[in-house]
Amino acid sequence: MASFFQTDIERIKGVGPAKAAILKKEVSLFVFADMIQYYPFRYEDRTHFYKINEIDEEYESVQVIGTIAHIELAGDNHRMRLIAKLKDETGQLELIWFQGVNWLLKTLQKGAKYVVYGKPNAFNNSINILHPEIEILTERNSKGGFMHPVYHSTEVMKKWSLDSKGIAKIQQTLLPLVIPHIQENLPAYILTEQKLIPKSTALKNIHFPESDDSLLAAKKRLKFEELFYLQLKLIALKNNRKQKSKGFLFGKTELLTKFYKEHIPFELTNAQKRVIKEIFADLKSGKQMNRLLQGDVGSGKTIVAFIIILIALDNGYQTAIMAPTEILTEQHFREIGKFSELLGIKIAKLTSSTKKKEKKEILKTLATGELQIIVGTHALIEESVVFQKLGMIIIDEQHRFGVEQRAKLWKKSHELAPHVLVMTATPIPRTLAMTVYGDLDISTIDELPAGRKNIKTHYQSDANRLRVFGFIKEQIKQGRQAFIVYPLIEESEKVDLKYLMDGYESITRAFPEYFIGILHGKMTSEAKELEMMRFLKNETQIMVATTVIEVGIDIPNATIMVIENAERFGLSQLHQLRGRVGRAEHQSFCILMAGTKVTKEGRERLETMVRTNDGFEIARVDLKLRGPGDIMGTKQSGILDLMIADLNEDAPLLQKCRECAEQIIHEDPEFLLQKNEVIKKHILALDTQSNNWSKIS
Ligand code: ADP
Ligand code: MG
Repeated sequence: MASFFQTDIERIKGVGPAKAAILKKEVSLFVFADMIQYYPFRYEDRTHFYKINEIDEEYESVQVIGTIAHIELAGDNHRMRLIAKLKDETGQLELIWFQGVNWLLKTLQKGAKYVVYGKPNAFNNSINILHPEIEILTERNSKGGFMHPVYHSTEVMKKWSLDSKGIAKIQQTLLPLVIPHIQENLPAYILTEQKLIPKSTALKNIHFPESDDSLLAAKKRLKFEELFYLQLKLIALKNNRKQKSKGFLFGKTELLTKFYKEHIPFELTNAQKRVIKEIFADLKSGKQMNRLLQGDVGSGKTIVAFIIILIALDNGYQTAIMAPTEILTEQHFREIGKFSELLGIKIAKLTSSTKKKEKKEILKTLATGELQIIVGTHALIEESVVFQKLGMIIIDEQHRFGVEQRAKLWKKSHELAPHVLVMTATPIPRTLAMTVYGDLDISTIDELPAGRKNIKTHYQSDANRLRVFGFIKEQIKQGRQAFIVYPLIEESEKVDLKYLMDGYESITRAFPEYFIGILHGKMTSEAKELEMMRFLKNETQIMVATTVIEVGIDIPNATIMVIENAERFGLSQLHQLRGRVGRAEHQSFCILMAGTKVTKEGRERLETMVRTNDGFEIARVDLKLRGPGDIMGTKQSGILDLMIADLNEDAPLLQKCRECAEQIIHEDPEFLLQKNEVIKKHILALDTQSNNWSKIS
């Protein structure tokens, strides 16, 4: 059965081996199934015919039936154009072509009736259409009443007549062959409850809808199917893991209580208290925890992490904290170290630049259990890193680590799989969280510690540079410090470094009375650390840097963040950078410097930054502007390769699918009920087709 859909597209009448090869190479269409799922990306409304006197240039496009009354050539040999006058009983308009003139001259028939489609323009009190689509009037196209599909095509494809029209033709040939083979893959009761049309109708209508309504119904049905099966898979994975994976039972809280009573430096926010409860509930459950902790920059994730570490310690287990960069590792080491010291807890740092002798000592104490916490980069994954009893893994900024790296750390526990807490400072919109992290539990710190001032954000053009410098001087006089960040502009490190160095020099010239530090990715970690420490101690007042300072760095006295060429940064990067200031009681400022040439999207990013400090709001705009694949960095396990659903537009539908999937799995986890048989069958088919049902986690 499945084999029919797996038939090579070269077997479609009118395709053949040569065109098939082009389609395979250009848009990865190999078999029938690929082809029918090559959906139009928009539609031209051909449901209506206009009379010529109804048309004005406000219309995006119009469709008219008329007679060619006159044909003439104008212009010279260099730029010849063909003008045809099209008439109906209400008036006339001009059709103009600059291309394909000879061909049209041969084929256009004066006196014949045509269907014409295009964008109307007004010129000298009359209407014309430039390069219209034109077809001789036939029985078929005279009826109107349908929407034309528009398919993506490439230059190469167009040379092989595989433009949008060519693809529509292929779909027209293929659909009637395929439709009898299509099996409904949603249970009847879901179709009824969710008011969904059958799959075969949906497929037909997604390519050739008869109306807006039928198109909407088709889209809804296909999106539902896609999101529903994705959610079903993720929920099943999560449940499966929860049932199977026993976890360490952490019930004791001695150290934690001591810390809470004697040392905690501030009252936790309600959000912090809530997520700690959520996490603690996992740790007491006897199942392995797999939880994502998200919270905006400055929301106070560190103290939460430390409290969780204490629980592990209380129960006799070590913790590993893994961060994506050396600087972040250093930061965690310092922050967690401060708390650890209060309780006499042993903590060490391991990165690729740790000295051999020191490393040997660390590994030894880690293996004996003397060392209780280790913070590190992916150096922690190395085989030589052996724990006595690893019970808790905290991973900062998960999407920079692959799923496989996560798994390698797990395996360092000799008993059960350790608990895993993934922390991210980049808030993820709900829809994305539900898909990418759909197999994790999620805790969100959605509240900042009290008294935090909003960071005042301004957008300044390069012309105002002197004023900006003046402002920085004023702040430094009041005892504050400033970051000035340069973007990566060229792909080449050399050029970027030069750009940064030029910036450093001009800042040095502009601020002769102050000390200026510099920080970039090519420096050794000792040099970086030295620069950071000098800045932290206010031995330097301005830090010129690349985005290496993006995540996590905490310099409470820094109140100004200047971002050069801000239009070149992504939204979440800008937000992260801004989060480097505003970390203490002083009013802080973020100044976005931008050149004169800013794209529309670039402007929207800058305006969003000026408008809001809310990381979740920023994440939503980011999702809208960039799409989910780019946000997550990599295409994770194909989860984001959605064929038709759109995480930005389809949030409500996704929610519905999630609920529907949850309900089914709750009621009938193995799909044994008669009414769910279709689901079981479809999952099996998906399984054999792609095998990725089981590969995802
Ligand atoms: P992030 O979530 O960005 O890692 P941190 O954990 O670094 O945030 O916390 C940011 C700052 O806020 C730190 O200086 C920290 O000591 C402080 N902080 C955290 N929680 C609270 C709280 N409940 N009340 C007051 N200050 C807090
Ligand atoms: Mg932090």
